[in-house]
Amino acid sequence: MKNYRIALDGPSGAGKSTIAKRLSAELGFVYVDTGAMYRTIGLYCLQNNIDTADEQKVSSVLPKIKIELKYVDGEQRIILNGADVSSEIRMNEVSMAASKVSAYKEVRKFLLDAQRNVAKEQSVIMDGRDIGTVVLPDAEIKIFIVGDATVRAKRRHKELLEKGQNISLQEVLEDIITRDHNDTNRAESPLAQADDAILLDTTYKNFEQAYASVLEIVKSKMS
Ligand code: C5P
Repeated sequence: MKNYRIALDGPSGAGKSTIAKRLSAELGFVYVDTGAMYRTIGLYCLQNNIDTADEQKVSSVLPKIKIELKYVDGEQRIILNGADVSSEIRMNEVSMAASKVSAYKEVRKFLLDAQRNVAKEQSVIMDGRDIGTVVLPDAEIKIFIVGDATVRAKRRHKELLEKGQNISLQEVLEDIITRDHNDTNRAESPLAQADDAILLDTTYKNFEQAYASVLEIVKSKMS
């Protein structure tokens, strides 16, 4: 069977990862969460007191970082220098650290090959900000998922509360707005819709409806 690459891009909280996980289970494709890789670099900086605002310093520690992706029961686990950090990277401070380090050219270069390599020999669903534009510009299927910032913040807030993190909705909303701004306005691989991506707005859709829309797009492109 031909290999397919599905690029799912968009701002945080638009529903990309939940949709990607279900789709990967349904299609049997590998799911690659590229945000988790940026989060892992952000986490490394936090753990080692590296100022994420210092581009040179962050770039200089990259050779000390080894990131591995493992799949356990179809779920991506992320390993930082031998330790499974899949839970730690979901903390809110790590989101902001990831947003900062992801603007740096050397950080993006460091992760690009790893991301492209996973897609070389298997069908993948990759989610991120620049998959359709930079990482996999030849992807067969590209979807750009957007949604109102308040609705996205509510979803993200619920997820964080479920993970036991004590944070207000207002704080999550402010972080989302800052991250959207950083991601969209950075010089290196900004968050952008590829010309050939299909736009999907999930503001007024619940998960099932958003998933059904994605599945319809994917099936129409695969047939
Ligand atoms: O998707 P997630 O919210 O986990 O990503 C964390 C951060 O990593 C984002 O705010 C964004 O700054 C960065 N990112 C990126 N490019 C990607 C994926 C994530 O810049 N392909």
